[in-house]
Amino acid sequence: MIHEYDVVIIGGGIAGLYTALTAAQRSCRVALVSKVHVTRSHSVAAQGGIAASLGNEEEDHWEWHMYDTVKGSDYLADQDATEILAKEAPEAVITLEHLGVSFSRNKQGKIEQRRFGGHTRNYGESPVKRACYVSDRTGRAIMDTLYDRCQAIGVDMFNEVFALQLLFSNNLCCGVAAYDIASGIPQVFHAKAVVLATGGCGKIFKTSSNGFSSTGDGLALALDSMIPLEDMEFVQFHPTGINGLGILISEAARAEGGILRNGLGEQFMGRYAPTLKDLAPRDIISRAILTEIKDGKGIDGKDFVHLDLQGIGKENLAQKLPEISSFIKTYLGIDPAEQLVPVAPTCHYIMGGIPTDNEGRVLADERGTTYPGLYAVGECACVSVHGANRLGCNSLIDLVVFGQRTGQNAAAYATGKNLAPLPQQAESVVVDKITSLLDSKGNEHAATLRAEMQRLMTEKCSVFRNGEELKKALDELKQLQKRYMCIGLSSKGRVFNCELEEALELANMLKTAEAIVYSALQRTESRGAHFRSDYPERNDEAWLKHTLIALTSKGMRATYKPVSTTKFTPQKRRY
Ligand SMILES: Cc1cc2nc3c(=O)[nH]c(=O)nc-3n(C[C@H](O)[C@H](O)[C@H](O)COP(=O)(O)OP(=O)(O)OC[C@H]3O[C@@H](n4cnc5c(N)ncnc54)[C@H](O)[C@@H]3O)c2cc1C
Repeated sequence: MIHEYDVVIIGGGIAGLYTALTAAQRSCRVALVSKVHVTRSHSVAAQGGIAASLGNEEEDHWEWHMYDTVKGSDYLADQDATEILAKEAPEAVITLEHLGVSFSRNKQGKIEQRRFGGHTRNYGESPVKRACYVSDRTGRAIMDTLYDRCQAIGVDMFNEVFALQLLFSNNLCCGVAAYDIASGIPQVFHAKAVVLATGGCGKIFKTSSNGFSSTGDGLALALDSMIPLEDMEFVQFHPTGINGLGILISEAARAEGGILRNGLGEQFMGRYAPTLKDLAPRDIISRAILTEIKDGKGIDGKDFVHLDLQGIGKENLAQKLPEISSFIKTYLGIDPAEQLVPVAPTCHYIMGGIPTDNEGRVLADERGTTYPGLYAVGECACVSVHGANRLGCNSLIDLVVFGQRTGQNAAAYATGKNLAPLPQQAESVVVDKITSLLDSKGNEHAATLRAEMQRLMTEKCSVFRNGEELKKALDELKQLQKRYMCIGLSSKGRVFNCELEEALELANMLKTAEAIVYSALQRTESRGAHFRSDYPERNDEAWLKHTLIALTSKGMRATYKPVSTTKFTPQKRRY
């Protein structure tokens, strides 16, 4: 089946929805394609808030926000993009409010704001209240509002449709080949502009805060089309996942007064970040927790620490952190108002992604060549505003600010253009891919390979890394890719074949994992979330640059491009 649109967006999280709404407001015919029902995209899980220097609670300025973002990124963020993010954030939040997002309010009736990791007043002096929120359900509230708005304006939603390949016509991106999960029938989206908004890839690791659909599909689609990926070595581990499960306990819990304690009951963060303590950036806290554990100061010598929320009080917990409190009760059977919560770092966010300019246009190389008709936005994209480490609440604002710019540009590009011809084999791409998997008689299973990949990525490529282990990880990934060629499915039907979908996702994860490990191996320094124990220092002379990894006929290849440094010269990070 072939569908024709001006703009097709792959992904229905906040990035996809905001882009869709913006393009539709400019009279474009817009389709939104999502492999899960749109309202189940991972964006709904966002808890803590969205950053903007509104200054509703205390003095704040976009320049401070920009500085914190650049410093938090360990100076790898592009400062021209970061300036846009910080400058446009307040208006973006007000626009969300006008669209109908029910933000929590302070006593003056203004949008309430709270502290969040790494966000400070006056260039690092002390924490500032910059995170706007809807109790601890911020993502849900924004998603519901944008979903309603997109429905009202006539964006066509294609739920449970899985994108398999980008389509090009003479180097112009002209659509995407997909299949309908419910029926197995190929769906070709023929469009003037295509936007990738496919989210992150946290499921590559064993313990993750991400939903099951965060499997890096868009990243793999890009690699398959010879599009490079930027800064893939930078994977964020959030310090406070529920131990063993990885389910997130938002930084909001520490913003409201929660404290991390080691096995001796000490508030150990003071030793690692004397000024910001428990509200230091995530890379620093995750390393601190694992260092305490390595030194035998985990709880009872085990591999977790405690999050102490008892000081927040029952009433405040119920009012400001209801969702988190209910997770803790449901999954651990304990009351956070009276008991300590066992936590450990959990894979949370990928800073790297598909390189774009500030208008969402996908970049093909280090010289800034663009792919006409192709855009990327949200967690799957790398603008780059987060550099080597993202600050909490800066993802949601990234989605909205750059969602708007991408929507505007995709719409302007599509307006007045004709559809470029579809490549001949558009539909057979899908049929071939699906049929070869269904017909395969191999004896390997996706679930087994996935578990092995998750284990090896967690052991060899997470918070602490070194060259030797990374090399082993790369070899093991190559083995897994080989074994993937012998995968066999026990379920042969085409209707809602989850095994088929999992096999397709696994191929994407293996490719994305290789990009992460390969990039991590090249970067012989430590910066932000990328810590090499064999190169523990940051090395600006050699490495103040972005990695671009491309998949060539000879395997992965790295090139580099400079970082845009407009306002703040790199300093040693102290918190
Ligand atoms: C638990 C949790 C809490 C968080 N809390 C916060 C917070 O408080 N503040 C903050 O700033 N950030 C937070 N983050 C980060 C932030 O929520 C995410 O980075 C952001 O929501 C990603 O949005 P997105 O639109 O890019 O992608 P997603 O919301 O992940 O959506 C991806 C979309 O792509 C679709 N898709 C993927 N592959 C395919 C395919 N092959 N075919 C078709 N469709 C496909 C999916 O169906 C989905 O619709 C949190 C993240 C998590 C996991």
